[in-house]
Amino acid sequence: VKEFGKNHFRLFTNDMREVVSRQSRIANDLHRALENQEFSIYYQPQVSLASGRIVGVEALLRWNHPQLGMISPGEFIPIAETTGSILQIGKYVLQAACEQNKAWQETGLPELRVAVNISALQFSQPNFYEEVEKVLHSTRLAPHLLEFVLTERLLQESKGAIETMNDLKRLGVHLSIDDFGTGFSSLRYLRLLPVCTLKIDQHFTGAIGSDPKDASLVKTIIQLAHDLGMSVTAEGVETQQQEEFLRHHLCDYAQGYYFSKPVPPKEITQLFSKQLEY
Ligand code: C2E
Ligand code: CA
Ligand code: CA
Repeated sequence: VKEFGKNHFRLFTNDMREVVSRQSRIANDLHRALENQEFSIYYQPQVSLASGRIVGVEALLRWNHPQLGMISPGEFIPIAETTGSILQIGKYVLQAACEQNKAWQETGLPELRVAVNISALQFSQPNFYEEVEKVLHSTRLAPHLLEFVLTERLLQESKGAIETMNDLKRLGVHLSIDDFGTGFSSLRYLRLLPVCTLKIDQHFTGAIGSDPKDASLVKTIIQLAHDLGMSVTAEGVETQQQEEFLRHHLCDYAQGYYFSKPVPPKEITQLFSKQLEY
């Protein structure tokens, strides 16, 4: 029994060691990933439920590690946040997404808003606003074609967040709250935010058709957003039933595998040419 216990313990620590060494490897390799051009950006369409047309795209980062293969942003972004490399990475995503959207405009696509996820550390940099102005200036992208997706956590952690949000909004940039319903911002606080759109977390969207209580929360969030003069985007829409429910309850926009998974930029152009054939 003692033997077994010992081995068991050893197994456990080996697993732990593996997790820790993968994390420190990722933390380490993140520094060079940018220079080595290991990142790319995929874009996921956002559809207007009233018209069925693509009105925007969300930029989602992809990392193809030379040895470890594709690593999910869900794994490396939190690590990049603790090491600080998210600052360089975030700058890269912002610049690349604006350039890409300008390029789409120049090839004659209809106006399209590009949504960029911003992490708390990046948003709380004193020069964040200037950085945004610079990127918009250098890419000549109209501010209303850029959207920042912020988390509820970010708003709680970053001092002066509301002030920065007001400045960005004055500049004409669109602001959204990500994963709405999973954080703990009070409703009174929400009322003070200069936010244009609430994004319903995919957990709630996924409950449509299976969990009536969570599905009724979806209705409540849509109503709440509209009462506050905001629009709503549902994330993680995977079925026709979910699409119908959301449209029926006047949700404005939807995003999810039902419409398209995140794709490389040239496939966005192809999706538009298909749209024209309808
Ligand atoms: P998120 O912002 O909530 O992005 C949505 C995630 O859901 C994406 O995962 C997307 O691929 C996935 N998804 C989209 N449609 C569906 C669907 O119908 N069903 C399901 N089950 N999933 C769907 P992804 O690309 O792995 O990104 C994970 C997270 O990493 C993102 O969650 C975001 O928080 C973060 N992230 C990605 N790119 C960036 C970035 O450039 N900067 C920052 N700060 N965070 C990023
Ligand atoms: Ca997001
Ligand atoms: Ca989300």
